[in-house]
Amino acid sequence: MRTQTLEAKSLEVAARASGREARAVIEPLPVRAGPAAAAGQTLEVLPPLSGLVVPLDAVPDPVFARRLVGDGVAIDPTSNEVLAPFAGTVTQLHDAHHAVAITNADGIEVLIHVGLDTVALRGRGFTALVARGAQVEAGQALLRFDPELVAREARSLISAVVVTERGRVRALHPVHGLVGAGVGVLFTLELAGAQVPARAVQGGETVLSEVVVLPNPEGLHARPAAVLAAEARRYSSEVKLLGPQGEANARSLVAVMGLSTKKGDAVRVRATGSDARAAVAALTRLLQEGCGEKAGAKGGEPTLTLVPPPAPEQARVVAGAGELAGAAASPGLAIGRVLQHRAGALVVPERGGSELEERTRYAAALREASAQLEKLKAQAAPLQAQLLGMHQELLQDPELAELAEGPLRAGKSAAFAWQQAYTTHAGKLEKLENKLLRERASDVRDVGRRALALLAGAQEQSLTVSPGTILIAEEVSPSEMASLERSKLAGLCTTTGSATSHVAILARAMGLPAVCGIDEAALALEDGAQVILDGTRGLLRTNPTAAQLEQVTQQLARDASRRTAEQGAAAKQAHTKDGHRVEVVANITSVEDAKKAVAAGAEGVGLLRTELLFEDRDTAPSEDEQAAQYGAIAAVLGKERPFVIRTLDAGADKPLSYLQLPKEQNPFLGLRGVRISLAYPEMFRAQLRAVLRSAAQGDVHVMFPMISDLGEVRAARQLLAEEQARLGGQVKVGVMIEVPSAALQAELLAREVDFFSIGTNDLTQYVLAMDRGHPKLARQAEAIHPAVLKMIGMTCDGARVHGKWVGVCGGLASDPQAAPLLVGLGVKELSVSVPAIASVKAALARFTLAECQSLAQAALRLGTISEVRALLVAHAEAHASVEG
Ligand code: PEP
Ligand code: MG
Repeated sequence: MRTQTLEAKSLEVAARASGREARAVIEPLPVRAGPAAAAGQTLEVLPPLSGLVVPLDAVPDPVFARRLVGDGVAIDPTSNEVLAPFAGTVTQLHDAHHAVAITNADGIEVLIHVGLDTVALRGRGFTALVARGAQVEAGQALLRFDPELVAREARSLISAVVVTERGRVRALHPVHGLVGAGVGVLFTLELAGAQVPARAVQGGETVLSEVVVLPNPEGLHARPAAVLAAEARRYSSEVKLLGPQGEANARSLVAVMGLSTKKGDAVRVRATGSDARAAVAALTRLLQEGCGEKAGAKGGEPTLTLVPPPAPEQARVVAGAGELAGAAASPGLAIGRVLQHRAGALVVPERGGSELEERTRYAAALREASAQLEKLKAQAAPLQAQLLGMHQELLQDPELAELAEGPLRAGKSAAFAWQQAYTTHAGKLEKLENKLLRERASDVRDVGRRALALLAGAQEQSLTVSPGTILIAEEVSPSEMASLERSKLAGLCTTTGSATSHVAILARAMGLPAVCGIDEAALALEDGAQVILDGTRGLLRTNPTAAQLEQVTQQLARDASRRTAEQGAAAKQAHTKDGHRVEVVANITSVEDAKKAVAAGAEGVGLLRTELLFEDRDTAPSEDEQAAQYGAIAAVLGKERPFVIRTLDAGADKPLSYLQLPKEQNPFLGLRGVRISLAYPEMFRAQLRAVLRSAAQGDVHVMFPMISDLGEVRAARQLLAEEQARLGGQVKVGVMIEVPSAALQAELLAREVDFFSIGTNDLTQYVLAMDRGHPKLARQAEAIHPAVLKMIGMTCDGARVHGKWVGVCGGLASDPQAAPLLVGLGVKELSVSVPAIASVKAALARFTLAECQSLAQAALRLGTISEVRALLVAHAEAHASVEG
């Protein structure tokens, strides 16, 4: 029998390793926690599986290894039936049947979780032998699994056996070595009895969620944490969020933020109480959906859809004479007059009235602060309203309330208690490693000051500015930002914060030039002093000369008229100054984008990212669904505009739950792009059929992403040819060049395809070995690196041999300074973001083809990104006055 073979083999290996006979070895380990309680009750837990006992610390899953689920051991199993560890009730049986929990009459719950990541099998390979709620005997079989299937398709067979309620256990004594299912003891528990408080919430069950891998790009930072905390507060149960760094009260925004979770972290929700099951279900779903950060997620309205605009490229420059430097937080130039804004420090009395009076005052101030925020929200732009909503959440934060509790009880004034609470919290946040979370300390202080002003009887002052003001402050709170009149404000400088602070995000959303983290000398500038603010470079020029003012005034006028002219010319076809034709097309993801692109002057679509159709759902989209989408876009574009459909580019940073892709150590070097399509040929064929069906409606091209060799091109083309033989439909076939091997073999590939489109986002990360999303490497991982440019040049050379055209659809194509350079390297089509269409067309019109070519040759001779950028800036400035 299969299982016996597996068991025998494992026993043999273990015996050889330990130099002993294969047998169950029961060796108590030293007590792990707390003093031995001689009088305490003990409970012996049967091994639910046969196999080798492995300490939890050695389990390659932080949720178990850090005992976030509970204390216990793991078993590397040699049997395939999970037995009840003692008599009790089946209190949990996961729908995927990979985990089961039994609770005995004393309320001790032991969870057996078979394998790692087995929830993804969704029940495949598992058979439940009991139902939830069933009474079982010690040693009774609970569920059975197919060890070969699970070993093959899950990350590991290692199974955790843990006691979920730590408060009930004084010490846990596990055994060593091999154990036999239902034979002897796996661990002995010393129960705490009355000495350790039992559950915080009486009369309810404890429910533990499945593991959720956080999809949030920055983990559970302020906004998603606020959404989660708000949801958790809807339930009466005690709800905890378990993350790799520890556990947190899920009702507390600050505590959730304090977990410092990151994208991809495995978290769980644990709830205890009468509505624990509902709370866990709701919070699990919310976490899976990104707590409102992923717009369009299943399950109703996305609560928050804020995605901060990308931070400007240049983070900080060195200041010259008469300049103060900071972080380039929001681009743009401005001339204006200084207005210093200082938040007055509020002095509050330490002693208060009676405890009752102070508590009443405290509650009323928080209510009033929330009402003020509600009013501001009603007039605020959506982005600001979201931030203000998050401040309302902070006012209700139980951790803040808990911190205020001590001083209130000790007879301190409500104002003193609240000040202590929020400053302590802000201080805690400031010490966190995660920069984004650190910056949220300012939100705590902002909302803290609002309520404190009410408690201290001070009026909340709104910021009034006169036209042309450049506001300078240590900090400007989101609520102050909400009260600012954009039309009067010319610019903003803060001595705190950076390009990722809320103030920077808001400034970018308002189109307001801003510098954050500026030199503190800015605070000493006189009110009314004239200054020049350069939000693009992160500089504030003080005492500008008449010549400098004149220069910036002219620049602003030129920028304004150029923008108007560019918009006007965007409808025309793109050419270089001497008439060399370059197609400027658009990158899109939907029919709406296609309409916007055409309206903005796009001459076609050079990249339809089809991933969006495949995301946030349980199954792949059907052929009909895809055909309808592609057909609708083709209809918008008409037959005269080319339409390039890129086949599914999933994997790495774009996982799809229903594909059950294996866990990979280096997902960017793993199954992604066309590799996934070839691994799921039926899904791929459906997409190809949908593309072919839309071919009659437009000038449709199909393009395969992440091609790394000719074999993949041939395999993909083979499937396309087979579907074409059945369905008909003519399409041009191209490949993306985004892997160095493809660029190096461009000439070979060009023989077998109709066109190339260079994905500079990926090509850059693979050429430079720098993660495209790495926050610290952003400035070193620019596509204008001479080595990347060389790859682009090689691709064009290879294509030229066979008369094939080359486009660029990566981010570099949308950079107006780089557009002439790409054309000079031999690129014929630039597929750009919709807002960049006008400026890219205008940039091309300022250069002749020969100028583009000499620019390209000059760039290829340079050694660094900054040298190339300097060359591009110089050329752009030299050609700025020439209109095409
Ligand atoms: C690229 O890599 O440049 C590209 C266009 O593809 P994506 O950004 O979708 O990976
Ligand atoms: Mg790519």
